[in-house]
Amino acid sequence: MSHKVTLIPGDGIGREVSYAAKRCIDATGVKIEWEEKIAGQESLDKFGAVLPQDVLDSIRRNKVAIKGPITTPVGKGFRSVNVQMRIALDLYACLRPCKLYKGVKTHYSNVDLVVVRENTEDLYAGIEFSQGMDRTKKIIKHIEELSGSVLRSDSAIGIKPISIKASKRIVKFAFEYAIKNKRRKVTAVHKANIMKETDGLFLECAREVAKAYEGRIEFEDRIVDNMCMQLVQKPELYDVLVLPNLYGDIVSDLCSGLVGGLGIAPGANIGDSMALFEPIHGSAPKYAGQNKVNPAAMIFSGVLMLRHLNEVKAADMLEQVTASVIREGKDVTYDLKPDRNDPSAVGTKEMADAIIKRLK
Ligand code: NAD
Repeated sequence: MSHKVTLIPGDGIGREVSYAAKRCIDATGVKIEWEEKIAGQESLDKFGAVLPQDVLDSIRRNKVAIKGPITTPVGKGFRSVNVQMRIALDLYACLRPCKLYKGVKTHYSNVDLVVVRENTEDLYAGIEFSQGMDRTKKIIKHIEELSGSVLRSDSAIGIKPISIKASKRIVKFAFEYAIKNKRRKVTAVHKANIMKETDGLFLECAREVAKAYEGRIEFEDRIVDNMCMQLVQKPELYDVLVLPNLYGDIVSDLCSGLVGGLGIAPGANIGDSMALFEPIHGSAPKYAGQNKVNPAAMIFSGVLMLRHLNEVKAADMLEQVTASVIREGKDVTYDLKPDRNDPSAVGTKEMADAIIKRLK
């Protein structure tokens, strides 16, 4: 059976890593009908919108998409296309597996973590009130009246919504992922000792959801600061982590640092009926068009996509072959060489060629 997949190549280094990954995925033999769409600045120039309706319709129709990174202008300009897509399609679970592959430079020998981050609320909801504005003064006055606390009058205010619905569904997602992928433990990460209402609610929901999995998957919780220290000291003690949005963002970057950095860290944004796969890294504009960066994060995102499509054999094969190329350290990009200036480093395309050769 052939699968229909929306491909958004992205910009900056996006196109290079996307096409390298596409060639590798096709080389597994899985039949995919690719529907290519553009978003971001290029789409704004051509079609007058950074995220045209046509792109969202394509993902809604195909249910599966894979995407290269898209540049977000700093300061003025458009809101992140990536965040817009996650919200528009209700891709509430951000999945970031952080696994150590032999041959990658790191201080650790045994890391195999999966970070499950809530994608739709928390301080990322984008509800902020600027310092000095009239409406901010009103909010400050209202909060003072309702809470009895005194706020500094020159404050900016951000809102942190945490709901029962979003908390329960992300924790359930983490447990279901653990069962499906034969993992042993879920750790809920929070700061409920200080944020008793918001993080307290997240923890309460996590404990309630965990009851349904008793005897099948272990459950524990950790305070986020302690969690960071423990991950740096003994990451092998942890397995699947589930976190609200902001802690999830920070802890997943920490975890990708444990396993060798951005060049190899894949990701997925998953909802109840759709999934969008993409590497953690951005569009690295300074390397654009140089055929230089590592395609592995995008290829491993393709591995996650193949598993999602139930093409488990092809996914395992692509992961093993990519891992073997990394382990041997010959046909790899500069970031995987012990010395980043090593002249024997190959380009993005050539690393993909080495993987494809072994798949045949
Ligand atoms: P970045 O991830 O693009 O690059 C930071 C550095 O990481 C690079 O300079 C490079 O040294 C290294 N790096 C990244 N990818 C690599 C790869 N595949 N191989 C080897 N080295 C790699 O982060 P940034 O510079 O903060 O962001 C650049 C742009 O990307 C911004 O506009 C940002 O908004 C956007 N961005 C997009 C996404 C997305 O589309 N999901 C995610 C993050 C950032």
